[in-house]
This record gives sequence, C-alpha cells and structure tokens, in this order.
Amino acid sequence: RFITLEGGEGAGKSTVLSALRGFLAERGFEVVSTREPGGTPLAEQIRGLLLDTHHESPSAEAELLLMFAARAQHVREVILPALQRGAWVISDRFTDSSYAYQGAGRGLDPDFIATLEHRVVGIAPAMTLLLDIGVAHARERTRGRDLVPGGNGPDRIEREQDHFFERVRAGFLARAEAEPGRFRVIDATQSVEAVATQAVTCLRALVAA
Ligand code: C5P
Repeated sequence: RFITLEGGEGAGKSTVLSALRGFLAERGFEVVSTREPGGTPLAEQIRGLLLDTHHESPSAEAELLLMFAARAQHVREVILPALQRGAWVISDRFTDSSYAYQGAGRGLDPDFIATLEHRVVGIAPAMTLLLDIGVAHARERTRGRDLVPGGNGPDRIEREQDHFFERVRAGFLARAEAEPGRFRVIDATQSVEAVATQAVTCLRALVAA
C-alpha cells in the first residue's frame, strides 16, 4: 500500500518517516521509503536542477513540468514495481506537493496539474499524512539546519518569502479538506516524538483496516 507524507520544511517528516518504517518492518512487511522530488537517479538529477541556487531559476511552468518528469520516472521505476510485489511504499512528498507549491504557491492552474496527475501519475496514496505547522514556527525549526557548517543550507525554494509559504500551507489544508478520507492532518507544532506517535497511530488503523 502507498502512503505519502506532506507538509512544509521543519514539520518533522524525516522523523515520522523512520517511525512509520520501523512500525511496518517490525511486523515483517517489506517497506520502500522514498522521496520527491527524487527517488531514482534520473529524478534525483532533476531534483538537483530544481533546488540549485546557483543557476537560472526555472519559470513556474518549467518547475511544474520538471517535478512531473521526475515523478513519472519515480512512479514507473520505484513505486509501481514495489507495490506490485506487495511492499509498502512511503514517500516523503508526492503529487499533493505540486498542488501546494506549484499550484497554490506559484499560482499555476490546478486543472492543469490535475491533467498531469491523471495522464502522468495515475495512482493515488491510500493515506496521506499532512504535518501542518505555521510558517513562523517552521522557520524557527529549520533555522539551525541552515547554520550547520558545511551543511546544505537553504535550497532555492526555501529562500522564498513567508507569504509564499502561507499560500503553500493553505494549499495543503485545502487538499486535506477536499479529501478527508485520504488525509490525516497532524498538528506538527507538537514535539517531533508526539507527531511521530500520532502518525504511527494513523498507520496502525490503516494496517488493521
Ligand atoms: O522536502 P524536501 O526538503 O526534500 O523538498 C525539497 C524542496 O523542494 C523544498 O524546498 C520543497 O519546499 C520543494 N518542493 C517544491 N515543490 C514540490 C516538492 C518540493 O517546491 N512539488
């Protein structure tokens, strides 16, 4: 089964991902954890192009199409083969991020994104955990990250202004409201441990269902 994690930077997605992995692995399931943009060598190269701060910035349309080019490869090379052999797949971000960042954030038409989703992706997660956190709070959390000596520093998109991230957050929440059956919204202002525990509770219910 296919699960995705969504939300802004500093919401605790990596901690949640390891907790979910651990829960499934302990029960003897094969788990494939992956991320977007990325997840295959080609898609990781596209990620590099998208997040690079030193070269020309892509237009919103170019950004959207590169995201979907990476996702097309990711779905066919990694996600579908894993699902077909019965593994659980957990992806750190998926199509909802395109609606939030390139749609709500950059103002691209959600119908165009829906067309790409339909024609290029064709699969939807069984459950999506949205780790929701306010922009100011998330900035507090990620600040330390940027100060790590030799660390990655903020990528091109992380350098956006707060109002961009406010639109992204609202975009995610609107997606969750439109599809309450698939989404679980978790308050990510809690401690990362509490967020992870709540995420595992959601997964336990899905496994039992
Ligand atoms: O979550 P992660 O840090 O791996 O995401 C990499 C970057 O790509 C982040 O800055 C995220 O906000 C951005 N992103 C985006 N549009 C997407 C997916 C990710 O702008 N569809």
